[in-house]
Amino acid sequence: MNIKNKKEIIRLKSIQGQENKCQITIRDFPVHKHRESYKFLHRNKYSPDLIMDKLWSCKGNDSIFTSTKGFIKKKYKCPACSFIFETIHTNDDVIIAEINIEAENCFKLEISIPMVVCKSCNKKLILRKREFTDQMELALSDAFEKSKITY
Ligand SMILES: [Zn+2]
Repeated sequence: MNIKNKKEIIRLKSIQGQENKCQITIRDFPVHKHRESYKFLHRNKYSPDLIMDKLWSCKGNDSIFTSTKGFIKKKYKCPACSFIFETIHTNDDVIIAEINIEAENCFKLEISIPMVVCKSCNKKLILRKREFTDQMELALSDAFEKSKITY
């Protein structure tokens, strides 16, 4: 029996994208196979900007990002211990975050980007700066493009 239109979910073990200083590896990304390419599981759930939204809002990921404070002079506060950074020194580092868009299809992001280490609690923190979030989004797009994943 030949079942047409039966779409099986497969997992792409490791796909990579890069933009400027940001490199992202996506592990176990769920897709549908479609001839020689792949398709996103849902048109509206796996776009780079929505994945980024999810990254910022996922429980357990919240403590890896610094939040800004103050209107005139932006300050960064460690979300884990509330330490206020007077100066920021970044180093390239890697952080791993789990993205849970649909419980059964969660996947991981390994993000290599400039980060700060909290002087008080030693947590690695991504700065939620415009330039870095833009880079992360573009790196995700790059990974999808290279892997021929389309809508
Ligand atoms: Zn801290």
